[in-house]
Amino acid sequence: MQYKILLMGPQGSGKGTQAEILSERLGIPAFGMGQLLRDEIASGSDLGNKFDEILKRGDLVSDEDAALMLQRRLAKPDTEQGYILDGYPRNLSQYAAFDFDVPTHVLVIDIPREESLKRLGGRLTCRGCGKVGSVSDELKAGDACDCGGEWYQRDDDTPTAITRRLEIYENDTAPVIEKYAETVKHINGVGSIEDISERIENVLS
Ligand SMILES: [Zn+2]
Repeated sequence: MQYKILLMGPQGSGKGTQAEILSERLGIPAFGMGQLLRDEIASGSDLGNKFDEILKRGDLVSDEDAALMLQRRLAKPDTEQGYILDGYPRNLSQYAAFDFDVPTHVLVIDIPREESLKRLGGRLTCRGCGKVGSVSDELKAGDACDCGGEWYQRDDDTPTAITRRLEIYENDTAPVIEKYAETVKHINGVGSIEDISERIENVLS
C-alpha cells in the first residue's frame, strides 16, 4: 500500500504534530513547503539559487517553481512507500500546479475557530531558544525560560493576526478541499494529540 497523504487543517489544528506522528508510524517522510524551500536553498542547486535570489528580493517563489521542486523531491527513493504533504496545496493556484501526482488520502483536521484562537492565542515563544509554550502551562509573557531567555507573544499570535490567517485558510483552502471532495476525510480535531492520532489511524485503516 502506497500512501500519498495530503494533511490539511487550519492553524492550531495540530496538523504539524500529526504529520510527524503519522510519518513515524507509516515510515514515510512528511514535507512542508517552507522546509523544502529552505532545504533546496541550502543544497545550492540551480533551483535553490534561483529561490534564494527571489526571496532576497522580497518576492515570492512561483507556484510552478515550488511544484517543480516538490516533484523532484518526491522522485527520491525515500518516498517509495509514499509521503505526507503538510498543508499543501493551500490554494487553487497551488492545486493547479500540483498536477503530477494524485493523492490517495486527503485528510482535513477540523477545529472550530474559537478553538484555534484559544490554542494559538495562548502561545508563547522563547526569545532565547525559540521553544514554544502555552499560557495553559502556567507560563506568562515575561517569564524566564529554562535557557534564560524570555517568553513572549509573537506578533502573529495576536488574536487579530490569528483571525486573519484563519480567514485566509477558509477562503483559499476550502475550494481546494472541495476539489478533492471524493477523497477527503474529515477528522474532528478537538481532543488530545492521542485522540486525534487515533482518529486518523481509523480513517486510514
Ligand atoms: Zn528558552
